Amino acid sequence: EAKRAGGARHLVFESTMRERAAQRAGIEAELRQAIAEEQLFVVYQPVVGLLPDGGTDHSAGVEALVRWRHPQRGVVPPIEFITVAEECGLIGAVGDFVLERSCRDFMDWQARLGEAAPRLIAVNLSRAQLGQPGWIDSVRRILDLTGMPPSQLQLEVTESLAAQDQGIQQRLHELKALGIQLALDDFGTGYSSLSSLHLLPVDTVKIDRSFVSQADTSHHHRVLIEATVKVAQSLGMKTVAEGIETQSQADVVRAQCCAKGQGYFFSRPLPAGDLLAWLASHQEALA
Ligand code: C2E
Ligand code: MG
Ligand code: MG
Ligand code: MG
Repeated sequence: EAKRAGGARHLVFESTMRERAAQRAGIEAELRQAIAEEQLFVVYQPVVGLLPDGGTDHSAGVEALVRWRHPQRGVVPPIEFITVAEECGLIGAVGDFVLERSCRDFMDWQARLGEAAPRLIAVNLSRAQLGQPGWIDSVRRILDLTGMPPSQLQLEVTESLAAQDQGIQQRLHELKALGIQLALDDFGTGYSSLSSLHLLPVDTVKIDRSFVSQADTSHHHRVLIEATVKVAQSLGMKTVAEGIETQSQADVVRAQCCAKGQGYFFSRPLPAGDLLAWLASHQEALA
């Protein structure tokens, strides 16, 4: 009896595994097509400067975030396809597309908006990209092709991928040598620790939304944000608070001397054209 039940469970498990594998193979085939047919696109979320006097610098920067316009499913968020792209060897193509699109759009904003254009563009990297031989060459090629100044490009990595791996560390130093800025994304999640921050060649620490969302309600989270800002500052790094949704969260992180903020409170991620309009409207507000 028990054996039969166990057998049945096993069968259920197997069919779920098989379904999942089939589903994944389906996404993989569709993703190949998506790249070929240019169904991927990039949206940009403003990263604003939090000035000590209470002002906001709307031109501090943007973060590039990839989307997939699926012919049947509509717009698909990255959480549903980045891991698949990594596992099936498509992340190189996705990553190169995002980087080139981002650099082109950045240069276009410079030409159109001058002073009001974002001064920095942040692009997310995945571990699989950093591990690919020849990837640094494609970064160099994209910079040349687009005329993007490396000092205004920031590549974001997560700590889990950067922590102990010598090969990854080497790659990060090669990016620094090109003049590119590096940010540590989602700080505070996973195994991130303040004591290992100095091991990474990063310029900026991005404090994860899970802390920022409780900045105004939890003493514990406020203290952790404050400690992160202080340690980062003492190491010569800047901080960005991610996922600010309210005025009071913005006030708290500003009071803690966090230099920049990002979140729905300022703006959702926007298509390139809408970002232009957002920047233009905020420039008018200043004039
Ligand atoms: P991330 O790099 O931490 O990006 C921030 C995410 O938080 C974005 O989700 C953004 O839309 C969302 N967000 C921003 N402000 C708020 C807020 O106030 N409230 C809430 N609830 N969410 C906010 P998105 O675009 O879905 O991206 C999710 C993750 O996917 C990113 O997290 C990043 O790790 C990854 N990703 C996005 N684009 C790329 C890419 O081009 N390449 C790679 N390798 N990963 C990417
Ligand atoms: Mg990011
Ligand atoms: Mg990220
Ligand atoms: Mg993040």
